[in-house]
Amino acid sequence: MPQYDYDLFTIGAGSGGVRASRWAAGLGARVAVAEERYLGGTCVNVGCIPKKLFAYAAHFHDDFEDAAGYGWRPGAASFEWKTLLANKDREIGRLNGVYERILKGSGVEIFRAHALVIDPHTIEVDGRRVTAAHILIATGGWPTKPAIPGAELAFTSNEAFHLPELPRRVAVVGGGYIAVEFASIFNGLGVDTTLVYRGARLLKAFDADLGRFLGEQMAQKGVRIVYERNVANIERGPALRSTLTDGAVLESDGVMFATGRAPNTRGLGLESAGVRLAAGGAAMVDENYQTSVPSIHAIGDAVDRMQLTPVALAEGMVVAERLFGKAERTISYDNVATAIFSHPTVGTVGLSEAQARGRGLDIAVYRSTFTPLKHTLTGRAEKTLMKLVVDRASDRVLGVHMVGAEAGEIIQGFAVALTCAATKKQLDATIGIHPTSAEEFVTMRQESV
Ligand code: NDP
Repeated sequence: MPQYDYDLFTIGAGSGGVRASRWAAGLGARVAVAEERYLGGTCVNVGCIPKKLFAYAAHFHDDFEDAAGYGWRPGAASFEWKTLLANKDREIGRLNGVYERILKGSGVEIFRAHALVIDPHTIEVDGRRVTAAHILIATGGWPTKPAIPGAELAFTSNEAFHLPELPRRVAVVGGGYIAVEFASIFNGLGVDTTLVYRGARLLKAFDADLGRFLGEQMAQKGVRIVYERNVANIERGPALRSTLTDGAVLESDGVMFATGRAPNTRGLGLESAGVRLAAGGAAMVDENYQTSVPSIHAIGDAVDRMQLTPVALAEGMVVAERLFGKAERTISYDNVATAIFSHPTVGTVGLSEAQARGRGLDIAVYRSTFTPLKHTLTGRAEKTLMKLVVDRASDRVLGVHMVGAEAGEIIQGFAVALTCAATKKQLDATIGIHPTSAEEFVTMRQESV
């Protein structure tokens, strides 16, 4: 008789939890997963996937206009929010089914219920207690709202995917990933959009040129950006009245907070089971994702190392292999590429110019700004930015950064190059693909001052 009901009990069937569970099951472990909300977690239901679908929807706005420069005379375009929501929900429903089949097909038992950790090997779920040799916390994160009067009148990314009506005017608060993505989506869908950001430059965590350039491009597309101010309170009148920190009042039909996400670790019994949590709620783990309780591991946004789906997937596989396999798999958090699906898109991998200088490195910077070929006929003023950060001593390319169409698609390949320790000389020796925007990365010869 095995000592425990399961070898692994995973709490949370999002990207990381599903991957860890089925990987562990594939390695012969007896696995169960508990999910109280939706299979696929944030990414599938209220994150990456529906966001990208919305971003596609928003892009048509420009596409219809751009078509005219190429001789097309499209009919009067109109947009139906309800059609987009219904089609998006149908696709998400399909993906929920795929996740369920993947888990069941791998032999993972699914509990559609809240799970509570009772002790290092016991979980209460669905009205009963089960035991497991290992427990994995993969409960993800949850959007946070600043504690200001009227915050309850604002919505977050969770609700943005199900708004009954598209607001006529919206204020988006924040200057990170979600803020610039949703400001771009709303603007593209024809909503009068104001972005309120407390800082002086969007995307503070990234290379300074990216946020500065993106801000200019978004403004040019019609997003009103209010820098260095915050929303101090929100009141409901005929419209929503947001009073800003400088006393100005912003009227809108919706206010969206995109002001960060916190690890979803409360109410799981973790602290009483002995798991140490950081001040913001993140489960504290060692390099093997083990918490302060040896039988309890944590991955993904619940750990808050890098809130990215592919990172959670990789962490899930590492934990499964460490517990039930050969434990050979490791993750490097260097050179994790990321894209921000704003309009235009941002793609970035490696060190920013400031990070490289901060490490005391002598660097060369190559920067190029140009009008993409497509827009020579559309008349659109949109520009593309590309930037390389290179270590002079080793000639290694330390950072590749871009704002422009398909930046995510382009940067993925450069992430491979950086993982292979590519040098500037090797980029220079690479023949470009003409005519593309990406070829600029292998033809930049002039250092920028
Ligand atoms: P971010 O951390 O990216 O940005 C939060 C923003 O909110 C920052 O600009 C921050 O300002 C601002 N902010 C924080 N607190 C307040 C406050 N009290 N009042 C006003 N502004 C405030 O978080 P997001 O919510 O945008 O996204 C969460 C995470 O999810 C991201 O970090 C990313 O890892 C992940 N994500 C990834 C995506 C992708 O891969 N494409 C898409 C969406 C999310 P300041 O800059 O001054 O600190």
